[in-house]
Amino acid sequence: MPELPEVETMRRGILSIVGRRIEDLRLARCAKRPIEMTPGAAAMRRRVLGCKIVAVDRVGKRVVVRVDSGDAIIFEPRMTGLVLLAAPPSEEHLRLRIKLSGRGNRELLFWDRRGLGLVRLVTPAEFEKRYGGAKLGPDALKISAGELQARLADNRREIKVALLDQRVLAGVGNLYASEILHLAGVHPRRRCDRLGADAWKRIHAAMLKVLRLAIRHEGSTLGDGTYRNALNQAGSFQNHHRVYDRAGESCRGCRREKVERIVQSQRSTFFCPGCQK
Ligand SMILES: [Zn+2]
Repeated sequence: MPELPEVETMRRGILSIVGRRIEDLRLARCAKRPIEMTPGAAAMRRRVLGCKIVAVDRVGKRVVVRVDSGDAIIFEPRMTGLVLLAAPPSEEHLRLRIKLSGRGNRELLFWDRRGLGLVRLVTPAEFEKRYGGAKLGPDALKISAGELQARLADNRREIKVALLDQRVLAGVGNLYASEILHLAGVHPRRRCDRLGADAWKRIHAAMLKVLRLAIRHEGSTLGDGTYRNALNQAGSFQNHHRVYDRAGESCRGCRREKVERIVQSQRSTFFCPGCQK
């Protein structure tokens, strides 16, 4: 957490900063262990001060704020990071303040309860090196069914584990992988090299459907309440989960079987033994 739908919601939530200038960038007064920043805040400030924000993009599970010098500020929420234009959930976990010119929200904030997120300023060459095709697969919303199959068809890993590999496919994480495979009717332990063309088409279609629907619901805010949109409001896709975190409850697909939980690569997977044979 957060995955593609949550980060895309953050991105859309801060689009109003495009066209504004960065008037200041400072670490917030935070007594917690500092988050990872590259370069440090002082050097980052020197490089972006006065720069105009020209675009807000997303790469996988990161928000990308591009400025007119060509550099980009990467916000990587990892576990509990948030990109905000409104007052944060708590002052004590506020990490970074970016003051903006113009009207409306005057500050872009990075907040992180656990502090495992990171903020990085990169040149175009560094961007390509870190987030280009050699490091990160195509975005889950842009990859075609054929390309998804081509990238995984010879792979011996279990499909659920493979979908989480960001070098194969960018944006899908643990929560949405379970939801996608349930909608596709594919067992999470099925090996990639045992899946036929029809299964790959179903997985691809389910992936688009689940991710788009989750974006429409502004992501999933789980029981700990951490994930919020850019205005510090909860998402609502958690109310539509088919299997995730529903072990022992009845399946929303067949309404007969109970959802089961297994562990794959140290991560929980939820599935229905009836719908996913
Ligand atoms: Zn079922």
